[in-house]
Amino acid sequence: MSKMKPGVVYGAKYQELLQSCKDGGYALPAVNVVGSNSINAVMEAAANNSSDIIIQLSNGGAQFMAGQGMADGDTAKVVGGVAAANHVHLLAEYYGVCVVLHTDHANRKLLPWIDGLIEAGAAYYKENKRPLYSSHMLDLSEEALEDNLSTCAEYLKKIVPLEMSLEIELGVTGGEEDGVGSDEDLHDNPKLYTQPDDVLQAYELLSPIGHFSVAASFGNVHGVYKPGNVHLRPEILKNSQELVAKTHGTGANPLDLVFHGGSGSEKAKIEEAIGYGVIKMNIDTDTQFAFASAVGAYVEKTPRAFSYQIDPDDDKPYKSVYDPRKWLRQGELSVVERLNEACADLHSTGKSLAKG
Ligand SMILES: [Zn+2]
Repeated sequence: MSKMKPGVVYGAKYQELLQSCKDGGYALPAVNVVGSNSINAVMEAAANNSSDIIIQLSNGGAQFMAGQGMADGDTAKVVGGVAAANHVHLLAEYYGVCVVLHTDHANRKLLPWIDGLIEAGAAYYKENKRPLYSSHMLDLSEEALEDNLSTCAEYLKKIVPLEMSLEIELGVTGGEEDGVGSDEDLHDNPKLYTQPDDVLQAYELLSPIGHFSVAASFGNVHGVYKPGNVHLRPEILKNSQELVAKTHGTGANPLDLVFHGGSGSEKAKIEEAIGYGVIKMNIDTDTQFAFASAVGAYVEKTPRAFSYQIDPDDDKPYKSVYDPRKWLRQGELSVVERLNEACADLHSTGKSLAKG
């Protein structure tokens, strides 16, 4: 595999990177970020592990990037997304790895957010000859398959000239945020398992248009649940790959598959999923907890610095303890540590295509 320039990858290089994942039996961690602290921590982890990485923003993350106090929340989601992407474009090459820039779930209600990003992305492309984002995701999995796929086709047509890819979702990823959250809902709910026939239909409609990846559901859920309530069935991924390969005479694992809800998943099932062509695993809940628990521990260790600038008992100044860089850094380091584990689980450690 040819060496790539460090920095943001997209288009043909992005597809080359995904092929390298499938050939090399590894997947990339895709980490949700909400600001410069989380973005930099993700790039630091990628650099430490010589792993390429995917940085992604949800609409809420993009809004937070712009500032929760910005008056027009819809505008904030777009300009925050642009700001985050610019931050990554400027810094990624200095971390010496390949970074994929991606947006997370957008259902029909959020299409105006994607429209805004595509518009900003077209202007960015004109000026810089590269896309603002490597790919966007549409999650229309709650809708009828025909509606889901025809809208995905329409958007893929729009972004192919910008050298972008599209991630789609077939079948529902469970979890509180998705309305399939109770333990009963999760118990062998057929909605949580994608039908291989649906994947075949997506392949036939979308592959002539451009590059796409599929978040296929195999019982995965967003968030972390009590052990025993989540039944991962990665063989669904295998069946989908085999159906497409057999029908269209392609090589093995023709589809680029995405594993949503990676937080808290069993290592053996992750391993199995990678073997079936999973090239991206989303991690959000576990890195959120990593950040929070480290900041919590820091505050617990030095509680008086969070109540007094100068200690009333002994006049001790606490400026060097409450300086935000001190406790935010603890959060960043903890995210890096969690991502060391993710790179190991996904076998992406040492595999960066940008490595010298
Ligand atoms: Zn997801």
